[in-house]
Amino acid sequence: GFRALLTDRDAGGKVTSTVAEIDEASLPAGNVTVDIDWAGLNYKDGLCLTGGGGLVRNYPHVAGIDFAGTVRHSADDRYAEGQEVVLTGWRVGEVQWGGYAERARVNADWLVPLPQGLSTRDAMVVGTAGLTAMLSINRLEAAGISPESGVVLVTGAAGGVGSIATALLARLGYSVAALSGRPQHGEALKALGAASIVDRNEFLAQPDKVLESARWAAAIDSVGGKVLGKLLKQINYGGAVASLGNAGGIELNTNVLPFILRGVTLIGIDSVMQPYATRIAAWQRIAETFDIAAYGKLVREIGLEELPAAGEQILAGEINGRVLVRPH
Ligand code: NAP
Repeated sequence: GFRALLTDRDAGGKVTSTVAEIDEASLPAGNVTVDIDWAGLNYKDGLCLTGGGGLVRNYPHVAGIDFAGTVRHSADDRYAEGQEVVLTGWRVGEVQWGGYAERARVNADWLVPLPQGLSTRDAMVVGTAGLTAMLSINRLEAAGISPESGVVLVTGAAGGVGSIATALLARLGYSVAALSGRPQHGEALKALGAASIVDRNEFLAQPDKVLESARWAAAIDSVGGKVLGKLLKQINYGGAVASLGNAGGIELNTNVLPFILRGVTLIGIDSVMQPYATRIAAWQRIAETFDIAAYGKLVREIGLEELPAAGEQILAGEINGRVLVRPH
C-alpha cells in the first residue's frame, strides 16, 4: 500500500480530506504508474479539496492537479521504468485521481518527460502555475509584444502564476508592473524583477471611465472580474492581454472601446488541454529562462496532512508564491 490524501463527501454533502493507506488495486486504470516525489498546490486544488466549483464528480477522490516523479511501471513505449516525468492538466486531480498520493496511475499521453536541467522538485516549483505563465508570455509574443513594447502588468502578482510570470518576464528583459492586493509581498516581487508595484485597492479605487490613460503594453491576468475589466481600458494602442484566471471573479465588465479604438487583443489561456508540442516547447523555455534558486524564498513545503488547511488558504487568497507537497 501507499499513502494518499483521500477526499470524500458525506451524506450531507460536506467534503473533507484525510490521509489514508490505500492499495495498488484501488488505483484507476492507466498505462503508466508513477512514484510521486512532489505535487503542487494551485487555486484549482483548493476547489477540488473543498468540493468547490463542481470540479470533482466522483468520490472518494485523490486531488492534486500537478505532480512530478519517477516512472514505476510503464506499458507504453514512450516511457520506461526509472524515467522522470511531470504531469499538469488533462483534468487529472479533478476527473482523474491526481498527485496527492505517493503513487499515481495515468495515461501516458498526459505525461511530459522531465525537462533537461530540472529536478522533479524544480518541476513542481514551476508546476501548472509556471507553465501557464510561460504559455501566456508565448501567446503575448505571438501577438507582437516584446520587451521594447513597454511595461507589462501582471495581476495577482503574489500568487503562483503571477509571481512566476513576474520572474519570467523580468528574466526575458521585460519591464514588469506587479499588481497585488498584498503590499507586504512588494519587496519579494521586486526581488523577482518587478520594476514597480501597483496596489490593487488603489488601482480599483480610480474612477472608471470608458477608456482610460494607456499605461501598459500588455498584461497577464490571474484575477478576472473588475481587475481585468479595468486594465483592458488602460492597454496601449496595439497591446494584448492574456486572461488566464478568475481568482477575483468570473465576470468581465468592460466595453468594446479598447478593441475598436486601440486594437487591443484579448487572449484566452488554458493550460489543461494544451497539445504535447506546445507543452514541450513551454517547458524547454522555462528550463532556459527561470531562475529557480532566485525564486526559492517564495517556495514552501508541506506534507499531505497540511493540505486541507492550505487548500482553504489558497481559496482565501492567502498563499504567496508556490506551495510544494511532499507525499512521503
Ligand atoms: P494563487 O496562488 O492563489 O494566486 C491568485 C492571486 O490572485 C492571489 O495570490 C492574489 O494575489 C490574487 N487574488 C486572490 N483573490 C483575489 C480577489 N478576490 N480579488 C483580486 N485578486 C485576488 O492561485 P494560482 O494557482 O496562481 O492561480 C491563479 C488563477 O489562475 C486562478 O483563478 C486559477 O484557477 C487560474 N489558473 C488558470 C490556469 C489556466 O490554465 N487557465 C492555470 C493555472 C491557474 P495578490 O494578493 O498579489 O493580489
